[in-house]
Order: sequence, then structure tokens, then C-alpha cells
Amino acid sequence: MSKDKNKTIDEITEEAKTYLGEEEVAFIYRAYEFAKEAHKDQFRKSGEPYIIHPVQVASILVELQMDHETIAGGFLHDVVEDTDVDLEEIKEAFNEEVAMLVDGVTKLGKIKYKSKEALQAENHRKMFVAMANDIRVILIKLADRLHNMRTLKHLPFNKQRRIANETLEIFAPLAHRLGMSQIKWELEDTALRYLNPQEYYRIVQLMKQKRAQRESYIEEVMTAVGDELKQVSIEADISGRPKHIYSTYRKMKSQNVEFNEIYDLLAVRVIVNSIKDCYAVLGIIHTYWKPMPGRFKDYIAMPKANLYQSLHTTVIGPKGDPLEVQIRTKEMHTIAEYGIAAHWAYKEGKSIKPNDKSFLDKLTWFREILEWQNDAHDAEEFVESLKMDLFSDMVYVFTPKGDVVELPSGSIPLDFAYRIHTEIGNKTVGARINGKMEPLDYELQNGDIVEVVTSRHSYGPSQDWLNLTKSSQAKSKIKQFFKKQRKEENVEKGKLEIENGIKELGYPLKDVLTSENIKRVCEKFNFVNEDDLYAAVGYQGLTAALIITRLTDKIRKEKEHEQKLEEKIVEVQQNVQEKSVTSNKTDTGVVVEGVDNVLVRLSRCCNPVPNDDIVGYITKGRGVSVHRRDCPNVQSDEAKERFLEVHWKKARNSNKEYYLDLEISGYDRHGLLNEVLQVVNETNTQISSVSGRADRNKIAHIHITVLIKNTDHLYHVVERIKQVKDIYAVTRTVH
Ligand code: MN
Repeated sequence: MSKDKNKTIDEITEEAKTYLGEEEVAFIYRAYEFAKEAHKDQFRKSGEPYIIHPVQVASILVELQMDHETIAGGFLHDVVEDTDVDLEEIKEAFNEEVAMLVDGVTKLGKIKYKSKEALQAENHRKMFVAMANDIRVILIKLADRLHNMRTLKHLPFNKQRRIANETLEIFAPLAHRLGMSQIKWELEDTALRYLNPQEYYRIVQLMKQKRAQRESYIEEVMTAVGDELKQVSIEADISGRPKHIYSTYRKMKSQNVEFNEIYDLLAVRVIVNSIKDCYAVLGIIHTYWKPMPGRFKDYIAMPKANLYQSLHTTVIGPKGDPLEVQIRTKEMHTIAEYGIAAHWAYKEGKSIKPNDKSFLDKLTWFREILEWQNDAHDAEEFVESLKMDLFSDMVYVFTPKGDVVELPSGSIPLDFAYRIHTEIGNKTVGARINGKMEPLDYELQNGDIVEVVTSRHSYGPSQDWLNLTKSSQAKSKIKQFFKKQRKEENVEKGKLEIENGIKELGYPLKDVLTSENIKRVCEKFNFVNEDDLYAAVGYQGLTAALIITRLTDKIRKEKEHEQKLEEKIVEVQQNVQEKSVTSNKTDTGVVVEGVDNVLVRLSRCCNPVPNDDIVGYITKGRGVSVHRRDCPNVQSDEAKERFLEVHWKKARNSNKEYYLDLEISGYDRHGLLNEVLQVVNETNTQISSVSGRADRNKIAHIHITVLIKNTDHLYHVVERIKQVKDIYAVTRTVH
């Protein structure tokens, strides 16, 4: 593509004549005259007459062999925006189609892009495509941008950077998607020149230095391959492949390598007449030089998404350096350079009418490519992506800050609001579209600037919103709102139900609804908190009865246990009444809590005395026996089940005495027993029996049974015994 020199209108018409009919050439010439007249008083920043710009844009479109209407659109693309001429006049002077193309380009011109994160760039590209309606609008826009980039030097520094950035992020990727590598490369290289002039010129310099060396090397390769191909009569055009500055720059950046480490700088391209020849050439090259594993790519069998076709391989070249080879047919090469435009010219001939079915199919196909989220790497992926319904219609609108938001077409401001934030959606009361208040069911148009009006006092979405909104995201958030709102009601309802149920069972709420108990039940049913539990009962996900049973199981067990004990006591009392006729009731000095008239016995195993810590034990048919609480005979859980609270009567003048066994051990010397008996006697304690023995270690074991009034009495006796010489220990015996 020639870029150094402006083309004259004569040169352009001459070139157009090579593929357009006479009438069509006349048509574009008329467009030129119309534009020239409209722009006649305008000048570019460079000081040249303005018409030079549209002429060069049209020239690019002629090089792409576009149809006459597109070229007319190129001549006229700035007329509506920059002059007094309106669309009606263009329609009258030319036709509806040209007017539509000009309108499309004018609208695209209004999209302002601020460099943002990658997603925003992608959304902007999609918005472009969605707004363009006709792919030719994009082609005119690309030609327009290309010429603007070529003349960027006339603009102030700030504008240069902004436009170069936009070019890299929006226009070069678009050109790439459309397979228009020529335009893509030029856009990228020019953009880099303005964004990073230092690196740009350094790479240019390095390329220059290497050129001679590279050229002789490639010459060698070309001769070798050429001779080989001549022998098998394959006609081939062999050339060194031009390297692009921006792609070299990117490679250095992304792989963090220096210029001379990028080995694929050595590359040749072989262009042949048929696909069969492509594979033949590949075979010859692979026999000549050793291929590097993993570097062979067959884009002929599996074209790229943008229809790029070629064979790629890398071999170890004549001097042991890696050498990249691309092999393709002439047609493939044209498509590789001009993308969609070339494809158009090849398949459709010269006159394409937008109403043609094939044209519409083509447009759909373009869209599918453009809609495609990620750059495809092989055809398989491409086919997969086509299977998915990617061609769902979308609408692209702006936030007041200039971000692009993608929504399903037919979306309304509410969809937009929910996309921004759930809370904004819930509090939406109105919407301003392009600065004007519109109803909430206004259908959003591409390029609208949408501002949502919210109110803190809003009661939230209405049921209608579910029908009005288009995006599933908005719908699900509205549903969530209702669910949450109902939840609050359900919590109330569920709580009431549970409380009533507990009251009916006769349990005090404060005993059942302890935080500990609620936590336990929540865990059992996997609820995060109390409210979820109540809500589940409220909307009848769970029955109240089930929750109540769980909540009360502990308290119920306790109650049942109490009840059992009560029954037992009644049983005991009946027993006593039967027996009291015959048995002599003796006063043990022990009171059983809450029960009169019960047969109470002091156990013989541990011999409790007043002030000992005691428990009552319900025996089977023999009343209550009283044990010391630490008596080993009543320590089992089973025994504890049968405990009763008992206590000693507070009788001051009771002289009642209790039998108690003491075990005394000491060194067996002469007179020990006598001394023990003597001190016991001195305490005025009656001894009812005595026994003693000595083991072979000469340890004396004395066993006495004494009559004791209470624990104070007992301690006194024990203290006295311990004072006897050679006594080691005094213990209460438990049988
Ligand atoms: Mn322009």
C-alpha cells in the first residue's frame, strides 16, 4: 500500500477503472466533486485543502478494490459532520446506501474512547461493530484512521498520543479481526512511532544494520530453494518476509528478549499457484533442511478465524540458524494482506448489493467473526465458537463516565442499572438517556449515554420489572430482592410458629430458646443463623414440629428423668406404708427432700455420720439408703440415676450416736493397742468392738467400731489417735 505520496484524483479513477465499470467510475467521480465543493473552505492542520483527506481515504478503498458505493462513502465520509450538507442531500444526490454509509461513519466518529482496561477495549470494538450495521462502514472508518495516522505529525503532542493509543487498542485489533494485515501493520507501526519513538527508531536502526546480512542470507536460501523447485517444475515466487516494527517490539517486550534474540527475523515466503504446490514445496524444504519440532502449522487445512491460510514451518537453515518459512497460494496471500476486502473481491465479483442474500450471509459471517471473544488459533476452535450462539444481539451503551456496557438488545435502563450494581438497580426510580429523562421501559440504543436516577426512599423493584427487564442478570437480582423481602416475613412467621409450639408443650420459652440450644439445632440442619432457621419454617421448607422436637429434646429428657424419679419415690412410699406396720421405724437423723414418711436407712458400707456430705439412694423395695457422697459403692452412673437429695436434720440437742468403723495402722510395738484404746476412752467415746492383728512386716492393723455423734466428734477422736506414738494412719472403713 503506497503511503509516501498522496494520490491524485486522476490516478485514483485510473486505478478504479481496472475493476469498476464506466458508470461506477463516474459515480465515484461525482462523489469526489460533491465532497470537494462541500469542503471547499476548509483546511487541514497541515495547511492543505481539506479535500485531500477524503481523497486519500477513497484511494485506500480503491486499493482494497471496494465497490463504488463504499468509495463514494469514502469521499463523502466527513461531509455531514464537518459541513452544512445533511444526509437527505446525500441521499438525493447519490442513493440511500451511500447516505447510510456516511451516516454510519459519522456515528462512529462520535464514540469517544479513553484508554482503559482490556475488557473496555473489547467492548468498544464490539460497540463499533454493533453500531456500524454494515461492515463497509468499518472499512471506511479504517481507511479514514489509516490516513489520519499517516498525517498525525501535524497534530499537537497530546492528540497524537491519544489517537495513537486508540489506534492500537481499537482499530488495529479490528483490522486484525477482519484479516486486513496490511492495514493492521501500518496502523501498529505508526502508532508505536508516536507512543514510543525511542524504541521505534531503535528497532528501525537495528533492522537496518541487519539488513545486508539478512538479505545475503535470504538470497542464499532463495537460490537453493529456487533451484530445487525448478527441477520439479514448480513455479514459485520467493521473497524475504518483511518484518514489522510493532510486532518485533511486542515480541521483545512480552518475551523480555533483546533484538538479536528474536530468531524468526530470518524468514522467507514462498508463493505458488496451487495448494498441491504448497505441500510439495513444504516437502522439499523439509528434505533440504531439518525442521524444528513443534513449529509446523497447517493453516491451509485449518484456516484462522480471519480466513488466513498458509503453511508455516521453521527449519535449521544453511548457517545453522532457525529459518521461518511461509508457503501459500497467491489467493491466500491476497487474503492474508487484505482480509475481508480481498475475500469480497474474489468471491462476490464486483457488484454487491446489500439486499443480496449472499451479501447478508456475508455480513452475518463477518459479525460472527467479530463477535468472537478471543482471537482464534485454529479452525476447530472457530467452528466450535460458531456452534455456540454468539450472534445474540447486543446493545452497547455508555456510563456517564464513558465506560461501555454490553447488554442484550432490547434492554431498558433497569437492565443497565442492575449491571452497574444491585443496590442501584433496587433503588432506581428513573433514567436520563443522553441527558433527557426517559421512562424506565425505554429501549436502549447503541451509543446511548445512560444515567440512572435513584432514590433512597424507593421501596425497591415492582413485580412488573421482571417482565420489563431483558437481561437474565437483572431478572435474577430482582427475584433475589423479592426472595429476601419475603424472607423477613418468613422469619417472623416461622418464629411465631415455633414459639407457639413450644408453649403448647408447656416449656418456658426462655429455657428452650437459649442461644446455645438454637446454635445446636442450626448446626444440625446446616443453617447459618437463627433467621434462616425461622425463615425455612416460615416458607414451610421444614415443619415447625420437626424443629420444635429438636429444640426441646434436651429439656424433654431432663423432664422425663425427673418424672421417672418421682414415680420411683411414689413406689418407695407405698413400700414404706406397707412395711411400716411391721417394722420399727428408727430415726436416722436424715431428711429426704420433699418426701415424708419414707423408710430411710444409713448404709453400713460407709457409715455416714451427721455433717458428712450424703446422698439418698433409692433401693429396690427397701426404701432410701443414705451413703456418703464419696462412697465408692454409689459412684456408677446407674447409681447416680437413683440419687435423691437428702440432708441431716438440724437437731441441736440430739445425742444420737452412730456406729462407725475406723482402721488404724502403726508400728507393732508392745502396748500400742492399749494406748489407742486409752485415748479413745479419754474422748468419752464408746467402743463397741475391737480387733487387731500384725502382719509379718510388723505393721499393726487395729479395727475399732465406735459410736460417734457427728463429724466434729469424729475428727476429735481421729486427732487423738493420731497423736499416739508409732501410729501412721487412721481411716474410715468402707465395706
Ligand atoms: Mn476523516
